[in-house]
Amino acid sequence: MKPISEKAKRVRESSTLSITAKAKQMKAQGIDLVSFGAGEPDFNTPDFIIDAAVSAMKGGFTKYTPAAGIEELRKAIAQKLKNDNGLEYDFKQIVVSNGAKHSLSNTFMALLEEGDEVIIPAPYWLSYKQLIEIAGGVAVIVDTDFDNDFKITVSQLEKALTPKTKALLINTPNNPTGSVYSESELRDIANFAVKNDLYVVSDEIYECLIYDEGVKHHSIASFGKEIYDRTIVINGLSKSHAMPGWRLGFSASNLEIAGVMTNIQSHQASNTNSITQKAAVAAYTHDRSCVDAMNVEYKKRRDYIYDRAVKIPHIRMRKPLGAFYLFIDISALCGKTVNGKPVNNAGDLAALMLEEAKVSVIPCADFGADNYIRLSYATSMNEIEKGMDRIETFIVKNFGR
Ligand code: PMP
Ligand code: GLU
Repeated sequence: MKPISEKAKRVRESSTLSITAKAKQMKAQGIDLVSFGAGEPDFNTPDFIIDAAVSAMKGGFTKYTPAAGIEELRKAIAQKLKNDNGLEYDFKQIVVSNGAKHSLSNTFMALLEEGDEVIIPAPYWLSYKQLIEIAGGVAVIVDTDFDNDFKITVSQLEKALTPKTKALLINTPNNPTGSVYSESELRDIANFAVKNDLYVVSDEIYECLIYDEGVKHHSIASFGKEIYDRTIVINGLSKSHAMPGWRLGFSASNLEIAGVMTNIQSHQASNTNSITQKAAVAAYTHDRSCVDAMNVEYKKRRDYIYDRAVKIPHIRMRKPLGAFYLFIDISALCGKTVNGKPVNNAGDLAALMLEEAKVSVIPCADFGADNYIRLSYATSMNEIEKGMDRIETFIVKNFGR
C-alpha cells in the first residue's frame, strides 16, 4: 500500500484528553484515584441553559443552521463582546464553531500559507502547535521566564521575528501557567504586532476565571482600530459556563477572515449543533450570576491548593492569577529515583505518581515545559484535599523533607 500522509502522521495525540480518559477509566474500574487532569469544570451546566436546550429540542430546532451559526446567537455574542470587552462587532464577524479548539483550527487554516510562522510563548496549551502544523504553518516556540510570570516580552518577540512571521498567539489568562497579562503588557505587544504587520490570535477562553482584586482581563483587540483589525479573538463556553461537552466556541475577527473561516467550516463541519446554539443564546444573554458562583468556588480551591503546594519541599510554583491550573516546577527532583526507577522528567514523575500515589497529573512536555506538571483544580475540594495529601506524602517519602 502507498504510505499515508506524513504530515498527518506527525500529529500527536492530545495528552490532556488521553490522560484524562485513562483516569476516568481507572476510576470506573473502582480504583481510588484523584484526577488533576483535564481542565474540565466539575460543575454541571447551569439549569437555565439545559432548559433552553430542552425547549430547542422539543420545539423542533433540530435542523441544519447557517454554517457560522444562527443570527440570534452571533448577535448575542457580539453584545457580550461589547459589554465585557469593549469590542464592537457586527454579527457577521462572529463565527460559531464546535469549541474554541475548532475556532483555533479555522483561524490557522484561514491565516497560514505553507511555512508561515506563528510565535507561541511557552509554556503553551498543547493543541496550538499541532493545529498550526496541521494548517501547514510552523510554530515558533519562545520560552518565557518563571521570574517574569511566564509572560512574553517585546524584546523576546523581536528576537523571534523573521520575514516568515505571520502571527503571534496570546493566551490570557493562561493555560497552563495561570498568568494574566496586564493592560500595559498587552499594549506593548499590540504595538509590536501593528508595527510588524502581524496577526494576533487572542485565546481568551479563561477570561471569566480571574480571582484577585485588581487583576483584570483585557482583550488585546480593544486597544484601537489597527490592532482590532488584525486580531482574531477566540472564546467559548466550555470553561466559563461548565459546558465542555456541548462544544461551543467562537471567533471574532475582521470580515474577510470570518468569511474564509465560514467557508472552510461549511465544508468541514457545517454548523455547531443546533441545540447547543440555542443553549448558548441562553448562556450569553443571562446575567453572570452562575459564572460568579462557580468562581467563588474556584477561588477557594486556588487558595487552598496553592497554600498546600508551597509547603511541599523540592517543588516551586507561582500563584496562579487566573484559569484553574497550578503549574509546578519539578526540576529539583530530576536525576533522582523512586524505588530504583529514574525520574528524568515530568513524564517519569507523573507516571510514578499515578502508580504509587494514585494521583493523575498532566506532565507538561507537550506544553513546552519538560520539567513541569500541571494540576487542574476544577475538581471538588474533597478531591483536592485528598490529592494534595497524597502528593505531599509521595514527595516527602521518596525525596525527604
Ligand atoms: N484554549 C485553551 C487555552 C484551552 O485550555 C482549551 C481547552 N479546552 C481550549 C482553547 C479549547 O476549549 P474548547 O474546545 O472546549 O472550547
Ligand atoms: N483544555 C483543557 C486542558 O488543557 C481540556 C483538554 C483539552 O482540550 O486539551 O486540559
